[in-house]
Amino acid sequence: MPKSINTTCLDPGFGYENGDGYVRIWNYPKGEDGARLVMRHRWFWELQVGEIPDGYEIDHVCKNRRCCNIEHFRCIPKSQHVVENNTSRYSRDYNNFATDLLKYHYLQDLSQPKLAAKYGKSQSTICNWLKKFNKGEFHV
Ligand SMILES: [Zn+2]
Repeated sequence: MPKSINTTCLDPGFGYENGDGYVRIWNYPKGEDGARLVMRHRWFWELQVGEIPDGYEIDHVCKNRRCCNIEHFRCIPKSQHVVENNTSRYSRDYNNFATDLLKYHYLQDLSQPKLAAKYGKSQSTICNWLKKFNKGEFHV
């Protein structure tokens, strides 16, 4: 169960954002012994909560990868994190697809290979999405 969030996201502003949206910072001043770039949100967690066990990752419940508010974090096994990220990406992609179909009716006349190319998905994914859509399953 995702915990509820009663506080706002915190973005301390410093660090280097990667293409993946996560921010990295130097754990010690650059050039000192042991200085290396670390994930900023992990660094905040370790500072305030403690070491992250091997095989565990910090999940942003708020989905804001720049956020450093540890109340928005969960420490969960890596395998669970991957599954949840894939599930939420899948449902977000599907919802975008369903929203497009509702908005742009011409899309419903496109062939599955064309839709697969347009959305960067396999034809079997598009086929499943169309089945869901035709059953009226969408959350927009
Ligand atoms: Zn947050």
